[in-house]
Amino acid sequence: MPTIMPLCDCQQRPMVASFYDLPEPWVRSVRPLATRPERWLRLVQCPHCGQRWQLERNDSDFMPASTDGRSTTKVPSLAIKVPADADWAHFDDRPVRIAYLVQSRGGLSSERCLWRDCTNRALKGFAHCPEHVYDGVP
Ligand SMILES: [Zn+2]
Ligand SMILES: [Zn+2]
Repeated sequence: MPTIMPLCDCQQRPMVASFYDLPEPWVRSVRPLATRPERWLRLVQCPHCGQRWQLERNDSDFMPASTDGRSTTKVPSLAIKVPADADWAHFDDRPVRIAYLVQSRGGLSSERCLWRDCTNRALKGFAHCPEHVYDGVP
């Protein structure tokens, strides 16, 4: 039986997704383009549509979502779309990660962030705003 290359759904995916939501055959089919070892990041390209993605792990670490892939850490392993015109070496993924944090926690609460002088609303379930949660305020 010939192996049929899976078609991609890059265009349907949001700007940022949990790495574990990506289909494993696709993850194994992507082309490596570059790495940033100091941040454990990889830049890969979809062989079907050419979309570039920033991934955080090696293929060997891939775990399907059905196992314990649901990370409970504040900053989960993410797959982030890198725009075609972006220079990945200087690509700032912080806004995307913070947006994902808000989305994955269900939005903001009505309380104010407890960090001194911060006027942002707190992340739902947290005492601090998404930026301060992201930055690891104790
Ligand atoms: Zn694609
Ligand atoms: Zn804050």
